[in-house]
Amino acid sequence: MARLTILEYPDPRLRTRAEPVETVNDEIRQLVVDLFETMYAAPGIGLAATQVNVHRRVLVADVSEEKNQPVALINPEIISAEGCEITEEGCLSVPGYYDRVERPDTIRVRALNVDGEAFEMEAEGLLAVCIQHEIDHLDGKLFVDYLSELKRTRLRKRASKTRRQEPAGAAL
Ligand code: ZN
Repeated sequence: MARLTILEYPDPRLRTRAEPVETVNDEIRQLVVDLFETMYAAPGIGLAATQVNVHRRVLVADVSEEKNQPVALINPEIISAEGCEITEEGCLSVPGYYDRVERPDTIRVRALNVDGEAFEMEAEGLLAVCIQHEIDHLDGKLFVDYLSELKRTRLRKRASKTRRQEPAGAAL
């Protein structure tokens, strides 16, 4: 197991579009293990491979209080989305910054599991928000992209001035 380094905004590597996984092999399973270890240690509730500079379509999440409901999705695709919810989001790649983002609150996702088998799952509330946030990472997108230009300019200035180390609350 290895704890991986998380890229921080505005690192241009966070803008890379991840490639689909062709075969779920031991290398991918090790990536999933390492992503979980890195996410739990951060601590965060979700992590995409893009954030650790591995550009494959893999993400992990665990939004439970007890940290005992791990979800690993390989090649995730949202097949339907409904409703609308505004959530205060944070991101392990944008330490110490939180803002409100509006997204669908119920989604249906198709993905492969760590055995390479296709499955579908429905997610709602925080898990739905988290999965959408992580899929955005795989597409090179960050939650701050949903904010106004003014807010993003301020954030870029702050990011270049300070490197905040302290882990925050529910970071994705
Ligand atoms: Zn994030």
